[in-house]
Amino acid sequence: MHNNLYRSTWAEVDLGAIGHNIKEMRNRLPDHCAVMAVVKADAYGHGAVEVAEKALDSGAKMLAVALLEEALILREAHMAAPILVFGRVNPEDVPTAVEHDITLTCFQTDWIREVNRLSLPSPVKVHMKWDTGMGRVGLRTENELRETTAWMANSPTIQLTGVYTHFATADEADLTYFDLQQHRFEDLLHTFESITHDPVAVHIGNSAASIRFPERMYNYMRFGIAMYGLYPSDVLKDEGMINLQPAFSLHSRLIHVKKVDQGESISYGATYTTREQEYIGTIPIGYADGWIRKLQGMDVLVDGKRMPIVGRITMDQTMIRLDKEYPVGTMVTLIGRQGTDQIEADEIAAKLETINYEIPCMISDRVPRLYKQGS
Ligand SMILES: *Cc1c(COP(=O)(O)O)cnc(C)c1O
Repeated sequence: MHNNLYRSTWAEVDLGAIGHNIKEMRNRLPDHCAVMAVVKADAYGHGAVEVAEKALDSGAKMLAVALLEEALILREAHMAAPILVFGRVNPEDVPTAVEHDITLTCFQTDWIREVNRLSLPSPVKVHMKWDTGMGRVGLRTENELRETTAWMANSPTIQLTGVYTHFATADEADLTYFDLQQHRFEDLLHTFESITHDPVAVHIGNSAASIRFPERMYNYMRFGIAMYGLYPSDVLKDEGMINLQPAFSLHSRLIHVKKVDQGESISYGATYTTREQEYIGTIPIGYADGWIRKLQGMDVLVDGKRMPIVGRITMDQTMIRLDKEYPVGTMVTLIGRQGTDQIEADEIAAKLETINYEIPCMISDRVPRLYKQGS
């Protein structure tokens, strides 16, 4: 991506780990169920093109993104696999989707009505989304389903190739709501099959649902967070049904090291004061890189040991308290393993009171991604 690296801060993406995680998932799935690699949001911050290529090499059969923009980036990189867009694409942009053979999501009769008025060189492929309880997008009732299916059956511009839903609580210990959604889906599917006989692809599960119930996943499972080696929740981590390897790590290097007298303050607001004579190191990463100010107090790894971030994180630089003097250029690991210790995305998510999904996504594209091939 960046050929010229001038700064000493980078994210490493281990494509071998992506391959391993896909293999682990495929081993759990029945033969009739394929992996759809979810590479939205620049592959959760890992790099969409590199991850998509690796996923397809590792046996994924389809790609999924949130936006038409994201699908076009994959086509520009000459990826020929089917691509599904999860979000709503404006009817006026449907010709662009057709031109690049991108499958869209549909859940509104108004959308169908507008697409019917277009003149297209060939019909747009569409997966119909059913809202069984997520409450985001999707049609919700049997009546809507009947109406939409009829509209599509008569559409000169739409080819229905799939139906799907999405679970809201597949990663939780209590599966009551998950089961309710599954039953609603089965009812809708039953109705759907009673009014149309054209075969379509059916998919319902994200990482969590697919890891826990691989045999219930129909034709595709949608592999997001676990493809990147992160567990969808602590519940899944504890269940231990799958062995995942994290693909993302974040590193920097000391650019300055100094001995500071006791009682000196560090960074904006002078929020940290040295308690004794201390070694303070500076690393070139800050909140403009997505290393946000709330991470003050978090540890980083230097020489395989934990050292705390002290003082306010600034836009471009962060200070850490060192246990001794280290040379400029010493590697600092902010996410990932060093020696026998590691700082997982989960630990950073806990510090920020959020979920691990946010962690690689929040590291901005000012931080170059370097790719490690692996097996
Ligand atoms: C993002 C997304 C996924 C992937 O979910 P993970 O929990 O990351 O596996 C699957 N399906 C839909 C519709 C999504 O939006």
